[in-house]
Amino acid sequence: MKINSKGEIKGSLPTTVCFDDVLLKPGYSTIKSRSEICLTSKLGGSDLELPLVSSPMDTVTESQMSAAMWLCGGLGIVHRYNTIDDQQKHIEAAWDLMANEFVGNTEEFQPLIGAAVGVSGDYLERATACVASGAGVLCIDVAHGHHVLVKDALKKLRKKLGKSVHIMAGNVATLDAFNDLADWGADSIRVGVGGGSICSTRIQTGHGVPTLQSVMDCAQSDRDVLLIADGGFKTSGDITKALASGADFVMLGSLLAGTHEAPGDIFENLNGDKYKAYRGMASPEAQIEWRGSTSSHEGVATTIPYKGSVHFILGELERGIRSGLSYTGARTITELQTKAQFVRQTSAGQIESSTHILRR
Ligand code: IMP
Repeated sequence: MKINSKGEIKGSLPTTVCFDDVLLKPGYSTIKSRSEICLTSKLGGSDLELPLVSSPMDTVTESQMSAAMWLCGGLGIVHRYNTIDDQQKHIEAAWDLMANEFVGNTEEFQPLIGAAVGVSGDYLERATACVASGAGVLCIDVAHGHHVLVKDALKKLRKKLGKSVHIMAGNVATLDAFNDLADWGADSIRVGVGGGSICSTRIQTGHGVPTLQSVMDCAQSDRDVLLIADGGFKTSGDITKALASGADFVMLGSLLAGTHEAPGDIFENLNGDKYKAYRGMASPEAQIEWRGSTSSHEGVATTIPYKGSVHFILGELERGIRSGLSYTGARTITELQTKAQFVRQTSAGQIESSTHILRR
């Protein structure tokens, strides 16, 4: 698509879809109980029973969240906005929390913890230290993953760590980027640019693609890598739509922030309502705290109501996803991806899809 000197647009612009633009058509089901549904997917040699990953953000994942995610069947990625020493302590503390749960049952004890790294400065040293402390997944965590520095980092990390460590990388928004990261050595790729609830990338830079559209595009890849949909998930319905579109896992920030296991203090207002902080890692507040200065502001900081234990939130999400598979008539995520049929909905349809009595 080009714009000529007269301002005329040549070529057509592709239409994109977001979560609320589409619905899944209910299909014939022989599933009598949601317990017949299996949500297990493999990542880093482990079978994870819940296809959810917690975001590497300083208000989402440290030791308690990592341990809780694994105990509930998912995966936590410890954020990188700290010293190497602190990140190691979070990984080791997560192991301790999980070891306490598994006392006397060591045969089944094969926990998986992820750790995020960047692409400059101390990232190689950080990666080696995190693996030494027990991280089985490394996540190359940058905003624009289709980048030469990610290519270099993937190659260097793979050379240094071999195949024993699962390497996740991202974020990307297009099939070309997805294929490149796969060819550069990633085992799984985070898909979604600009859709996060605390993200202002699209406002600041004009760039991004709706997360569901990116998932649909990247799922066309013929590369043998996992697709982690990331950014903008509000409900278990959104998660089901992403899985149906080809995501193997879904990464969550805001849905898990504000829980007991998320890092940070609980604030109480004068009415006694409880809150916790949730902030983008490119927000001015986060940048000042981790590097003492700010560059482009591509995130915001806010507070969200305190939600209690993340076990409860994950249980609710799991029940919603299982129910989602049952409406399609699918017993596994792979079957969901084969059978799923999407329809578009209009803005009137979006209102009908909401709990519209609450608007009257
Ligand atoms: P949420 O689940 O919609 O809250 O989105 C979480 C995701 O937003 C994370 O997994 C990151 O991919 C992304 N993210 C985190 N911090 C920022 C930021 O400051 N700007 C843009 N995106 C961010």
